[in-house]
Amino acid sequence: MKGHQRILVASGNPGKLAELRAMLGGEIEWVGLAEFPDVVGVKEDGQTFAENARKKATGYARQTNLWTIADDSGLVVDALGGKPGVKSARFSGEKDEDRGLLDHKNMAKVLGLMEAVPAEKRTCRFVCRLCLASPEKILIETEGTLEGIIAEKAIGENGFGYDPIFFVPSLNKTVAQLSREGKNAISHRGNAIRRLKPLLDELLRAR
Ligand code: IMP
Repeated sequence: MKGHQRILVASGNPGKLAELRAMLGGEIEWVGLAEFPDVVGVKEDGQTFAENARKKATGYARQTNLWTIADDSGLVVDALGGKPGVKSARFSGEKDEDRGLLDHKNMAKVLGLMEAVPAEKRTCRFVCRLCLASPEKILIETEGTLEGIIAEKAIGENGFGYDPIFFVPSLNKTVAQLSREGKNAISHRGNAIRRLKPLLDELLRAR
């Protein structure tokens, strides 16, 4: 095996970097976008989570000449034809306001649209798509999901985004009532990362 591999995490969010480092560890030196102030932001204008993750991974890999991992995630509600989907972060408007307020408005919009929808038709899932790319090609893609039900109202204080209205029947709790560890153990992101791990280990062995 060659020396350690450097992998860029295509996110300015230090939480995502820490999560990948903790879950994928190994012989990898993880770096964040913060170390590359001159890179040009890649637009997330794809129609699918997969397309956005690919765009980000390949776009930043080409600019930095590094292997790059990118994710795209969101909420898919069956009764809303898959919405908010790739528009999850900005479902109620644009992104340029206080994060807590925006989460609140996004949840209120989903709850409003779901008001007349009966319990058995409130199925939904969180989806996370991961893409690892080199400057030349896509190396690995994985997807993780978490199945749930849109709650009648927001419950719980933990997490972010749509967690308070995402009810997990098997746990009888919303995601916002789970601890960080409890969420990671079942979450779409956790599942996508757990699927990526053996594929990445194999890729590193084969270098
Ligand atoms: P991103 O892929 O991190 O940009 O996430 C897009 C949007 O999807 C977030 O802003 C949230 O609104 C929503 N989302 C993604 N993952 C989660 C989650 O674990 N809990 C709640 N909302 C999420």
